Amino acid sequence: MEGFQTCPICLEIPEDNIYQCSAGHIICNLCIPKVPANLCPQCRISFGLSKIRSRVLEEILDPIEYPCKFKSLGCEQLLKRWQIKRHAEACFHNPNLTPLCEKMGYQNCNFMLGSASRAQIISHFGTVHNCPLKLKPRILEVPGKLLMEQFRLRNKQRVPGGASVPTETPCLSYNILYSLITPDEMGPLFLIFVKVNRITDSLSLLCIRVWHPEFHGSFRYRAKLQLLRSTPQSTRIVVNEDGSQAQLNNVINPFPLTWELMVYNVKEVIPLLNASLVNISISLLEQSRFGDKARDRLLIKISLA
Ligand SMILES: [Zn+2]
Ligand SMILES: [Zn+2]
Ligand SMILES: [Zn+2]
Ligand SMILES: [Zn+2]
Repeated sequence: MEGFQTCPICLEIPEDNIYQCSAGHIICNLCIPKVPANLCPQCRISFGLSKIRSRVLEEILDPIEYPCKFKSLGCEQLLKRWQIKRHAEACFHNPNLTPLCEKMGYQNCNFMLGSASRAQIISHFGTVHNCPLKLKPRILEVPGKLLMEQFRLRNKQRVPGGASVPTETPCLSYNILYSLITPDEMGPLFLIFVKVNRITDSLSLLCIRVWHPEFHGSFRYRAKLQLLRSTPQSTRIVVNEDGSQAQLNNVINPFPLTWELMVYNVKEVIPLLNASLVNISISLLEQSRFGDKARDRLLIKISLA
């Protein structure tokens, strides 16, 4: 019985119509158009112009429930033959898929990375998470004003591009997606992920490579981040209570000004999403009025490690 359940070509349980040659060898609807010269791969008899359905086998297989292919990895789902493939593409136990959105705090987003194409990832983050692709920025510039506005909104449930995260992780109260960036048209995709930790009042950034071309698999990247003030040398005059004037250095640079991060791939980043690799004090940014000047900005440069 076992042998009759799978297509002899793709070795899968046929999900749709099943065909057979006149000698009774079966083949699935996906494989039959691909056989050379329309010959049965087992006996070399032609399938003929009017292909013969194997309705008996279809009906035998219809009620059978098959285990998910990732059963050994913990999936307990039982599936009818037409559900097997669709389930595997979204199965949480599929090692090629990663529920990054969910892990980042988008609890209702089932989008899986791993089998998603570059275009699907761009479309998903752009439309669902308001995080459009920034093409060709070898250096990504985030205006300080925008950065600070996001933090001022941090007590609200959600900002555009942001997500509230599960209450079970209260310190990870807030996530902001800045950008999906890529160095060139078909290049790898990087996602800049900003977390706001409400308890420590700090923010932390992660840079994630969410997609890469086939041959890029072993490439390592690093991200250099810099908080830049627009007028590092400027001073301002303040009038003291007694009427005297004092020159005040206008620039209190928040710490750290420059730091480097590894760029993680999706598999590596899941356990790191709850960690804070670099903490920048939001209060310190606020005290130093980071973002007040038009040219205050955060620069993110991604390069090969
Ligand atoms: Zn097949
Ligand atoms: Zn045959
Ligand atoms: Zn499964
Ligand atoms: Zn998503």
